[in-house]
Formats: sequence, structure tokens, C-alpha cells
Amino acid sequence: MSKVRIYTLAKDLGVDNNRMLQMLDELGVSYKSASSTLDEDTVETIKGLIADEQANGGSAAAPAATSSTPAAEAEPAAAPSEPAATADASDDGVPHRAPVVTIMGHVDHGKTSLLDYIRKTKVAAKEAGGITQHVGAFEAKTSKGKIVFIDTPGHEAFTTIRARGANVADIAIIVIAADDSLMPQTREAIAHAQAAKVPMIVAINKVDLPQADPERVKTDLTTVNLVPEEYGGDIIVVPLSAKTGEGVEDLLEYISLTAELEDLRADPKAEFSGVIIESRVDKQAGVLATVMVQQGTLRVGDFLVVGEKYGKIKAMTNSNGDRIKEAGPSTPVQILGFSEAPTSGEKVSSAKNEHAARELVASRVGERRDAEAARQNRKLSLEEMMGS
Ligand code: GDP
Ligand code: MG
Repeated sequence: MSKVRIYTLAKDLGVDNNRMLQMLDELGVSYKSASSTLDEDTVETIKGLIADEQANGGSAAAPAATSSTPAAEAEPAAAPSEPAATADASDDGVPHRAPVVTIMGHVDHGKTSLLDYIRKTKVAAKEAGGITQHVGAFEAKTSKGKIVFIDTPGHEAFTTIRARGANVADIAIIVIAADDSLMPQTREAIAHAQAAKVPMIVAINKVDLPQADPERVKTDLTTVNLVPEEYGGDIIVVPLSAKTGEGVEDLLEYISLTAELEDLRADPKAEFSGVIIESRVDKQAGVLATVMVQQGTLRVGDFLVVGEKYGKIKAMTNSNGDRIKEAGPSTPVQILGFSEAPTSGEKVSSAKNEHAARELVASRVGERRDAEAARQNRKLSLEEMMGS
């Protein structure tokens, strides 16, 4: 029997990845990540434990706890159901949120085609007459839950947003055409994802082409220190075709799996914070800005502050084009209510009322002026020192 990856085992045995990692912790097995491999003995031990759990009605404690330490004996009988329950509802009950994914790669390698395919197959179709506006992001519904894709021309969005200090993507898909392999913008995309410490999944696209050579792409990846799993590394590589759809389902599964391992959570009850994905001025509607809710909940009527400007949400639309009244974490929403178009990557916060919004803006203006004055003073004293 060969070595088995942690997440593969978890999948085969039908248990949550976090539960699997917890069991390994309890057994004192060391691992780097859920894509680390386990030796045969560990696999057998885990299988035995899971079998015991299932025999005992699904929630047996791990062996450390069952081997009756005096403390465990003293506990009331309610204890056994705890490990499984806490594995899922840890972190003070802060709920999971959907992953936000960005697609990057060299021009013509199929980023737009891949997004189009996913949008076409995974976004609930709007009734006839509905206008699909460009919002810069969309929500795909998969069997494993919601995945949010940023579809603003991948790269720029990611880099401008990052340049402003905001990280909006949780996972980066690096698209590489199987007939072209690594190209300059591929390397750039990889470097950006690495700098942002965002986990990457490599999608080898266009495998339907006769000249496709996915093996070459995998070999080339190793030259930039990305070692595919099948070569013993930890980079997930998914061969697919944005044209035929082959492999796209696998990609979505790997995204959900990666998201699960990242354990993404956000509190809808926390104070709101978000990031501008994109904005534009519509001749009729006015300024339309897409905001990604990162934490908390946005509601129509809320006051928002972006940089030194504020606005009140007059209307909100989800990426499907439906009018909505509120939006929680990992929801991209188009907002009507800013008087000027904010820049992508700007951070958005909310204020209790107009007065608070004005105060926040005033304090930011004040801070900026102070900083400017300090800079001016330093310049003057430097000039003095230089005797000019
Ligand atoms: P982008 O520049 O990365 O957004 O690439 P596009 O999505 O615009 O695709 C560039 C070209 O490759 C277009 O002509 C697509 O039709 C074609 N293309 C994209 N994906 C595939 C694929 O999986 N198979 C084939 N045969 N062609 C593809
Ligand atoms: Mg494109």
C-alpha cells in the first residue's frame, strides 16, 4: 500500500478534514498540511478509530479521551458528544464563509472562458428580461456550497487591490494553457499569489486541443518551485477544458476543499468592513460600486465611508441582479449611493449615522493634513541644514 494524503483519506472515510486533523493531533502524528501523506500504520489506526466512532453512533471521543483518565471519569456523561461538535463550531461560533476566488494567468490562456463556463453552468439563470450587469464578481452555487469568483480582469483587480493593502481573494487559480505552458504573465501571477500568501490551484486549460501537453506544464511548474502533488509536492493541478467543461467540476471541488482547509470564517454580526472591487458611473443610475463584504452585514440605508468620502446606501443589488436589503460576509454587492466613484481596492467601513460618517471623514482629512505638514516641515529643516 502506498502513502495516502490526509485529505484523500478524509474524503474516502467521509469525515471532515478538520476532524481528521484533530484526530491526528490527538494521536500525536505530525504533519505539515492536509496534503501531507500518512504512513500505513497511521492510516490503519485512523480507519479503526473512524469505524469505532461509527459503531458508537457517530461521535465517540478520540482514544486519548476514552482511555479513562480520572478527570474524564469525573466529567458528567454529556462529554462524549463534544469533540465532533466543537470541531465544527469552534472559534466562538463564528460561522464559515464562502471562499473568494480570483483567476489569473497569461493572456489568451482562457481565464475569461473559464469564468464564462462556470457562470453559465453554476449561476442560477435569471428570468428573461433580466439585465446582467457587470458587477466584477459572481456567486457560483456548487454541490459543496457557494464560491465567489472575482471576474474583474483577474490580474489587474488582484494587483491594484493588493497594492492598496487589501486582500480580497482567499484562493488564486492560475490558468495555464496546455499548449503554451508557463509564460511571463503566468510567472507574474504566481509571484503575486505567493506574495499575498494566497493558496494557489493550477488549472491546466485547453486539454481538449490535440497539441495539449499537460505533462510539460507540470514539469515546467517544478522549475518555479511549484511541485505538483503527483510529483510528491503540494500543488494541486487540475487539467480541464473551459471549452468542453471537462475537469471544471474537479476544479470546483478542489476550491471547496482548499477553502475548508483554510477554515474561512467571518462574523455577520461584527462591525462591517469590505473592499471596493470596482466602480463605474452609469449615465442614468449614477455611481455604481461593487463592494465585497468581508465582515459584518451591509444594509440598505447604512452610511459607508471610503477614504475621505462617505455615502448612504440607497439600493443594493447582488451579482445576480436581484435587489437585496442586506448582505453578509463573502457577498459581492453593487451599491448605489456614492457621489463619486471609489477606486478598486479601497477599504470600506460603515458609520452609525451621517454625523458619525462625517466625523470619520473629518478625522481622516485631519490625519492626512498633519502628515503632509510634518513632511513639509522635514523638507524645510533638511533644506536649512543643507544651507540653501
Ligand atoms: P484570457 O485572455 O485568458 O481571458 O483567454 P480567453 O478566455 O479570452 O481565451 C483565449 C482563446 O482561447 C479564445 O479564443 C478561447 O475560445 C480559447 N479557449 C479558452 N479556453 C479554451 C479551451 O479549453 N479549449 C480550447 N480549444 N480553446 C479555449
Ligand atoms: Mg480575458
